[in-house]
Amino acid sequence: MTTELGRLIAHRIALTGPISIADFMTEALGHPRLGYYRRAMPLGAEGDFTTAPEISQMFGELLGAWLADRWLTMGSPASVRLVELGPGRGTLMADALRATRGVPGFHAALDLHLVETSGPLRTAQQTALAAFAPTWHEHFDEVPAGPLLLVANEFFDALPVRQFHRTAEGWRERMVGLAPDGTLRLALAPGLTPFASALADAAPGAEAEFSEAGRALAAAIGARLHQDGGWALIIDYGYDSSTPGSSLQAVRGHRGADILARPGETDLSAHVDFAALAAASGRPTFGPVAQGDFLRRLGILERAHALKRQASPEQGRALDAALARLIAPDQMGTLFRVLAMGDDRSAQPAGFSDTPSDAT
Ligand code: SAH
Repeated sequence: MTTELGRLIAHRIALTGPISIADFMTEALGHPRLGYYRRAMPLGAEGDFTTAPEISQMFGELLGAWLADRWLTMGSPASVRLVELGPGRGTLMADALRATRGVPGFHAALDLHLVETSGPLRTAQQTALAAFAPTWHEHFDEVPAGPLLLVANEFFDALPVRQFHRTAEGWRERMVGLAPDGTLRLALAPGLTPFASALADAAPGAEAEFSEAGRALAAAIGARLHQDGGWALIIDYGYDSSTPGSSLQAVRGHRGADILARPGETDLSAHVDFAALAAASGRPTFGPVAQGDFLRRLGILERAHALKRQASPEQGRALDAALARLIAPDQMGTLFRVLAMGDDRSAQPAGFSDTPSDAT
């Protein structure tokens, strides 16, 4: 049994033919009424997955310190757009803002903009961040001009990707079509399609995947940084260099699921190609580095130690577990990568290397 959205997508395909995986993802995640990121409460124990800021307050606190440091190196502009893409429950931003209350002038300069499509999550963000009077947007392009400080955690992985398979005849795009019984199924396009003809050749059997939406967004952010100055920090699971392969996955209720089953009730995400984002931004970039290294350089061990001093033994154990989840190589420490985009004048920001030059 599929969902109402699954039936709508099947109906569209019956009328107009197979659609790309990117178009399928756009519908499954973004359909105005039934899309996953319009209606579900994806995060937390009752949702489908959990994220770094939901694991520990330390994550948002350290990112807040990083952002405040960037503002200072920008020359403490009197007004700056603080932008978060896909803020989830608003936890990261609430922790970042609480941790930076003591930075003179920083909060007075901030103008908070949240890019979020989900109604339930906008409500949660309103609750968490009411004191900062956020403005919401459907798209980054709607954020008004001005110096920028942008953060995006687990946002780019939700953007649509296309997939390709190298057959004996050449690259073929993988499409979503219909099985004889009318259900959704994957099949390769019978001939060359425009995107397939643009791929560099590879041996038969190879897989490729890329996100036009991710590249376009990185280009838009880069253009804004070029025009108005500022910094962007992107954190996600992914690749440092463009690697052939397919990574699109489906998760429902903290478990792997079929990509095509139950559209609108299933989270779909793909690994982020950081090399492609860096290239598309057209800006000086730093990283990607492993999340574990980044957080350690920003002082997460010291922060955990300070929190533990005020904690009960039970809270101390929870802190240790959260710390391990964020930085251990076999948990989020290595798979998750951190990339910064900046401006031409800038030296390396904190977190990107152990050399003294990054000590800001
Ligand atoms: N950054 C948060 C949430 C990550 S989940 C955290 O770390 O906890 C992805 C977030 O991006 C959600 O808030 C989701 O509603 C939002 N989102 C997904 N696709 C989007 C899109 N195309 N436009 C705007 N927001 C989107």
